[in-house]
Amino acid sequence: MEEISKNPMTRKQLINQIVYTGYHNDLDQSTRLFVENRISMQAYQKAFERGRLLFRNGMKCNCPKCESKDVGDIC
Ligand SMILES: [Zn+2]
Repeated sequence: MEEISKNPMTRKQLINQIVYTGYHNDLDQSTRLFVENRISMQAYQKAFERGRLLFRNGMKCNCPKCESKDVGDIC
């Protein structure tokens, strides 16, 4: 059923990636993940929303992007 030969990413990793882009509200990247991977619109939206929720709940992110933002940029 699963076609993973072309893409090394597992479904779980893909979901995590979409949650991540949702957290950062990165629509370009999340759209790319949706287009490049076989995932239902429903699952995609759910994952993206989860990311938005984590952000709104104030969950900390320690990716390089956010860390440098904390130190440098004034939002
Ligand atoms: Zn981040």
